[in-house]
Amino acid sequence: MYRTHSNGELRIENVGQEVILAGWVQKTRDKGFMIWVDLRDRYGITQLIFDADRTSKKMVEEAKTLGREFVIQVKGEVIERVSKNKNIPTGEIEILVKELTILNKSLVPPFTIEDETDGGDELRMKYRYLDIRRNPVKNNLIFRSKVAIETRKYLSDQGFIEVETPVLIKSTPEGARDFVVPSRMNEGQFYALPQSPQTFKQLLMVGGLDKYFQIVKCFRDEDLRADRQPEFTQIDCEMAFVEQEDILNTFEGLTRYLLKEINGVEVEKFPRITYEYAMKTYGNDKPDIRFDMKFGELNDITQHKDFSVFNNAELVVGIAVPGGNAYTRKEIDNLIEWIKRPQVGALGMVYVRCNDDGTYKSSVDKFYTEDDLAKWAEKTGAKAGDLICILSGNTDKVRTQLSALRMELATRLGLRKPNEFAPLWVLDFPLLEWDEETNRYHAMHHPFTSPKPEDMHLLDTDPGKVRANAYDMVLNGNEIGGGSIRIHDKKTQARMFDLLGFTPEQAKEQFGFLMNAFEYGAPPHGGLAFGLDRLVAILGGQETIRDFIAFPKNNSGRDVMIDAPSKIDDAQLKELCLKLDL
Ligand code: ASP
Repeated sequence: MYRTHSNGELRIENVGQEVILAGWVQKTRDKGFMIWVDLRDRYGITQLIFDADRTSKKMVEEAKTLGREFVIQVKGEVIERVSKNKNIPTGEIEILVKELTILNKSLVPPFTIEDETDGGDELRMKYRYLDIRRNPVKNNLIFRSKVAIETRKYLSDQGFIEVETPVLIKSTPEGARDFVVPSRMNEGQFYALPQSPQTFKQLLMVGGLDKYFQIVKCFRDEDLRADRQPEFTQIDCEMAFVEQEDILNTFEGLTRYLLKEINGVEVEKFPRITYEYAMKTYGNDKPDIRFDMKFGELNDITQHKDFSVFNNAELVVGIAVPGGNAYTRKEIDNLIEWIKRPQVGALGMVYVRCNDDGTYKSSVDKFYTEDDLAKWAEKTGAKAGDLICILSGNTDKVRTQLSALRMELATRLGLRKPNEFAPLWVLDFPLLEWDEETNRYHAMHHPFTSPKPEDMHLLDTDPGKVRANAYDMVLNGNEIGGGSIRIHDKKTQARMFDLLGFTPEQAKEQFGFLMNAFEYGAPPHGGLAFGLDRLVAILGGQETIRDFIAFPKNNSGRDVMIDAPSKIDDAQLKELCLKLDL
């Protein structure tokens, strides 16, 4: 037996017992004739004592050879500590060591294995196996496992079955580039790694499985904006014979269950807003509603004076910053600098101070009266003591900029509390979005999403206006899940491919299998997928998904630990009929 107990287990009640423990040397304290060692494993830390008087000099000599991260096994007696440590569960006891075995030595680790480490990001990624020994990383992985297990429990109780779908597939467009894998047996041909199991789960519905889920890896070859990973995990789900309402209820149920089981938080029924409302009110389709600061559109009440900046703008819109009148001139200038940074790109900002005595003072006093400003305050919900921040210009741009400002201010004001959860549904996404670059429509969600029946007639006349039965679940300003009711008849699917610019031949070549399946009695169906990494990070009160992935990639998509991607040798290339042209 390697061990009788873990290092997190022994208590005062165990005093007098002979035990065997194993683990890593966290640290040693050498008092000459007595040595203390903190022994660590996944479950905790237990203090060992090597004492020349009570055991032997030899024990102490052996203990002196121990270095950080050595793997050892000890046999000894549980004794009561003289000076107790109230901060750890095993703090009342220690082990008087009678036998020591060094199971493995260790080099000095390149960073400290402590909760607060001195290791930088890249170094910790390179030695991720050491990083995982640290509590914050270890606990995140345990937390992730718990979320996955609870998800499986809930969905399986609801009658979902978990089905694996292939990883070597043909491309399924979800808006990103595919990773491709050359096929040795089919010269010159390539598999794609799934951006999601989208078409497979639909085929499982045609196959009659009725309720499917899978915790599954997905692959997207995107530019890695902050906090994205080229491979990530989805809780992927699909249901047959359902309407949007059934899906919303089922997965609201899952999220509510997770919040309760994992975080002990009960949430009300999720608010539902439309995409249009979200854009108008928060400038964003994944609003953080833990705080207010709703947009107030001010065109009507600003465009009647000589202020040409506003007069020439498509949209004039403001938010009220609670307590913002307390900002000094310098702080406001700093905010203006912030929104002018290229990452945000605003040209400037107009502001109004709402004084405690009910008067107003603005940066455009030359053009507007107190009465005007009072109206702006009303529209943005500003109260005495607040600051109104106003941006103007092109509608889409201004909304994005003000939304960025809203989030930044909320962060500065401490309104984005990690242990508060504000989920909601965003509904009625547009079916298509116009892409200026390629000069054609793209599917906003994906090409298998069903138009709303009541908007079907617009497909020919005004496709950009067609809304989809598509929905996102949003939690604390992050899209944690999204899905749609699918098209399940060949005719509509063919129409959709046509709108997206596929010729009938291209559609047949790429999606013939799906169109064929639709000819054999496809049931109405729909589903959604959660981003597990992000969901776990948010439930864990954090926003960086990398911290919840055992072996993440860096911002250039590299695994710096195993050094991938890497070259392959000429023989391999030859076998695959590939020549490099670099
Ligand atoms: N496959 C979709 C996605 O990855 C989710 C869905 O429509 O179910 O976003």
